[in-house]
Amino acid sequence: MRIGVIGIQGNVSEHVDALKRALFERNEQAEIVTIKHKGQVPTCDALVLPGGESTTLGKLLVKEGISDEIKAMHAAGMPIMGTCAGLILLAKEGDEQVRKTHQHLLGLMDIHVNRNAFGRQRESFETKIDLFFLETPYNAVFIRAPAITYAGKDVKVLGTLDNMIVAAEQGNLLALAFHPELTSDSRIHQYFLDKVFR
Ligand code: GLN
Repeated sequence: MRIGVIGIQGNVSEHVDALKRALFERNEQAEIVTIKHKGQVPTCDALVLPGGESTTLGKLLVKEGISDEIKAMHAAGMPIMGTCAGLILLAKEGDEQVRKTHQHLLGLMDIHVNRNAFGRQRESFETKIDLFFLETPYNAVFIRAPAITYAGKDVKVLGTLDNMIVAAEQGNLLALAFHPELTSDSRIHQYFLDKVFR
C-alpha cells in the first residue's frame, strides 16, 4: 500500500506525520510518499491534497503534469482526501474570485466553494464541530478556511459550521475545510484510511 501526499506546497510534513500516526494506531502498514513530480501519483493507492495556497498549488499541479494524473487515478477509484486548499482544488466550481482569475481546479467533486468563507475577522480559529461519522465533537483548526456553498445530490454532508458545509464526501473523495493534520486527534485520517484499506 502506498499513500501519496502532494508535496509541492503547503502543510506536507504534517500530513505525512498524521498518516504515520494513524497507521500505527490501527496497526496497518503503508509507504508514505511525498509527491513532487509527474509519474508518482499513478504508483499510489491513495492521495492527500494538503492545505496551502490553492492558486499556487493548482498552477504547479498543471505545470508538473500531475493534475491529469490525479484525474485519471480518481476515475480509476483512488481515494483522495483534500484539506483546506485541497478541498478547493477538488471542487467543480469556485466563487467569483476563482472564476475571474481562471484558477485551476481539479473539478472532481460536485461542490461549489467559497475560497475564504470565514472572512478576515476570523482568519484562523479553533472550534469544536460535530461530524457525522464521529461520536464526540472534533476540535477543528480553521486557517483562512473555505466552505462548500453547494453540494450535489451525490455528495454527503459530514459537518457544518455557521450553516456552512465544512466537511463532505462523495464516493472515494473526502473534503475538509479545516486542518486535521494540525491536531493530534487522528480520527479524520482514520476515516480516510477506512476508505483506503476497505
Ligand atoms: N483559502 C486558502 C486558499 O484559497 C486556503 C487556505 C489554507 O489551505 N489554509 O488557497
